[in-house]
Amino acid sequence: MPKVHNFGAGPAKLPEEVYEIIRKELTDFEGSGISLLETSHRTPTYMNLNNEIQDVVRRLLDVPANYKILFLAGGGQGQFAAVPLNLISRTGTADYVVTGAWSAKAAKEAKKYGKVNLVIPPTDKYVDIPHESTWNLDPNASYAHICTNETIHGVEFDFIPDTKGVPLVADMSSNFMSKKVDVSKFGVIYGGAQKNIGTSGVALVIVREDLLNQALPICPSILDWTVNHKSNSILNTPPMFAIYIMGRVLQWIERNGGLDEMAARATKKASLIYGIIEESNGFYYAPVAKNVRSKMNIPFRIGSAEGNDALEKEFLKGAEALGLIQLKGHRDVGGIRASTYNAVTLEEVEHLAQYMRDFYKKHSK
Ligand code: PLP
Repeated sequence: MPKVHNFGAGPAKLPEEVYEIIRKELTDFEGSGISLLETSHRTPTYMNLNNEIQDVVRRLLDVPANYKILFLAGGGQGQFAAVPLNLISRTGTADYVVTGAWSAKAAKEAKKYGKVNLVIPPTDKYVDIPHESTWNLDPNASYAHICTNETIHGVEFDFIPDTKGVPLVADMSSNFMSKKVDVSKFGVIYGGAQKNIGTSGVALVIVREDLLNQALPICPSILDWTVNHKSNSILNTPPMFAIYIMGRVLQWIERNGGLDEMAARATKKASLIYGIIEESNGFYYAPVAKNVRSKMNIPFRIGSAEGNDALEKEFLKGAEALGLIQLKGHRDVGGIRASTYNAVTLEEVEHLAQYMRDFYKKHSK
């Protein structure tokens, strides 16, 4: 079997060095004689880890002191409910910028708790982000929600919108820690960890403190940011192992040059794949507008804009034979999707690029 290169969209590849650390620490966590898997979340051992991970998040993103850092169960979708439950009481209405399947899902969830205003015209194509000047923002909204990177459609914001004083809430599940962001421009940032920063089960939430203390009375405690902040993210037994892995991945990012280095690598990797798509004269087709093409998830079709089923199947089969796996596009959109998160190396992307070139040459004769 060839060496495997995992381009899956999530749960996604973790850095090899992190596995080495996990293997070493698995049965004896930091000299305690037992595994973290069987350690109480109320021990100094776990509280030290909890604080250590909050510190690395703060350092990597330069999180200002008036933002709280939470580790919550329920993944990204848990926060789809938590966001309205914690914030919509302000005015009963919220703005949603729907740029792909995930922000559409977030908006649908929010409708259970209040009025949702769609800021841009509904579409099912999701290949662009309309210019901010055309957005129908509601000055009375409790908050405005965006998804900074749409994992399925491959649409990534290349700007931070100005929501004119309305708190901006961002789902960063699939591009968290892939580049620096100015946290102070956001009211809340959240994301499931299983793409760029760890494994499934935990959401990292960064919330500005003036947005606490306004949850709806029906908000379950487990989703209430204020309650969870007060208990330092150990209200109940948290997904400790997922939190631990996230911490080790974040420390790996820090040791490897931090977010500027991750951003430089992401640009190199994505440019390689988009470059081949461009040079193929339409053999490969990337549907997303160039300025908002994701550097994390690169969806494309083969043969035509709609995709040639036989060619796409052959591409995937040939890729697997070379160890290039999990390249099948999401079932809602079909085609191919290459995810090039932080842990995927340039060398691995070069393998994929070479295969794409060879496949194109073979079929364009
Ligand atoms: N938001 C985005 C952008 C995602 O890609 C995903 C999952 O793929 C989610 C939210 C949902 O995350 P979870 O599966 O952790 O609930």
